[in-house]
Amino acid sequence: MIAWNSTPVPVLDGTQSGITLFDTALQAPAALAQHPEQSLYVCGITPYDATHLGHASTYVAFDLLNRTWRDAGSTVRYVQNVTDVDDPLLERATATGVDWQDLAADQIALFREDMEALNVLPPDHYVGAVESIDLIVPIVEKLVGRDLAYTVPGQGGEPDGDVYFSLDAAAALDRDDAARWFLGQVSQLDVDTMLALSAERGGDPGRPSKRNALDPLLWRVARPGEPSWPAGSLGEGRPGWHIECAVIAQQFLPSPFTVQGGGSDLVFPHHEMSASHAWAASGTPLARHYAHAGMVGYDGEKMSKSRGNLVLVSKLRQAGVDPAAIRLAILAHHYRADWSWTDGVLDEAVRRLAAWRDAARSATDDDVAGLRDQVRAHLADDLDAPSALAAVDAWVASPRPAGTGGRALADVVDALLGVRL
Ligand code: ZN
Repeated sequence: MIAWNSTPVPVLDGTQSGITLFDTALQAPAALAQHPEQSLYVCGITPYDATHLGHASTYVAFDLLNRTWRDAGSTVRYVQNVTDVDDPLLERATATGVDWQDLAADQIALFREDMEALNVLPPDHYVGAVESIDLIVPIVEKLVGRDLAYTVPGQGGEPDGDVYFSLDAAAALDRDDAARWFLGQVSQLDVDTMLALSAERGGDPGRPSKRNALDPLLWRVARPGEPSWPAGSLGEGRPGWHIECAVIAQQFLPSPFTVQGGGSDLVFPHHEMSASHAWAASGTPLARHYAHAGMVGYDGEKMSKSRGNLVLVSKLRQAGVDPAAIRLAILAHHYRADWSWTDGVLDEAVRRLAAWRDAARSATDDDVAGLRDQVRAHLADDLDAPSALAAVDAWVASPRPAGTGGRALADVVDALLGVRL
């Protein structure tokens, strides 16, 4: 699948070093090992309701990591998926009387435009679930063959043959202790919390005949009226969500890759289960670190279609809002914080952008060396964008000799924060 375009990232003098990132699996900051090549997988959208501020905030957060690694001299291999067939997409298509493929194509196109406008660097591989089915099927067959997955009989009109992953069988695998996956390794949650989240977030802990209520779906056999694809011994059907990401990541990135990213609503079950699948299938952990972005609400409420309060990047753009201001509004909040979009948040970002643009007209290279190092240091400390913004604000507000003009401030702000002045 085609990703989107980006403008070249300015290369700054000096370099970044010593990046720490809060690791959900450790529940503590982790020092990321310096390496010439870093690798990043950020879970992509299911293409409906794209691109709301929650999406935008997550991709901007991991764009900061991408930029920070590049500034440290590393090459970054970045992969993102698109869950272009899944229950929520099909449900939305049915509810609105739109063909599911048309809905997905329109929403993916909108997402690309929004990412480009927000100056989010594109992934090297932008991979759809549908185009990955041929990769996913043999992995599910392998798991079935090793008794790490099993089929469930149909009940209440459901067909036979849905394939589930056996968490207990995976946890009992006799492998190297240092690398082994166990239930809770990523999420650090207790079983009761996992059960509640599974029911809330697309799992089916109540389905009869599963060996463990938390066992996730790997392969859903065909139902009338649902899209399906041929799948060898599995029978026609479509893949589960967690195996999709595990297979795509292991296909296009090293095992383990450096950072698995996503919104905090993906910690469980999605990232826990993807990690279990990757480890069970390959014997290596999925990722070295797991990092999660907070949730964005609207005026103190959860943002959702059903509440009618989704804030869409495309709608803001249509209303004439500068995408750089949207990006600044996002960066004014720490990526791990839950926060609320308000008109005031946007107004402040618009004011800040104007002040920065005004200052950029007179900044020279010599002026910004100290500021550049401050911004670097803040980003190296768990991507602390709010402190980086405050440093730029202070520099902009400070008296300085009349410069000869130049792009120095603009280059620092673009390269490190992705804000175009
Ligand atoms: Zn994912």
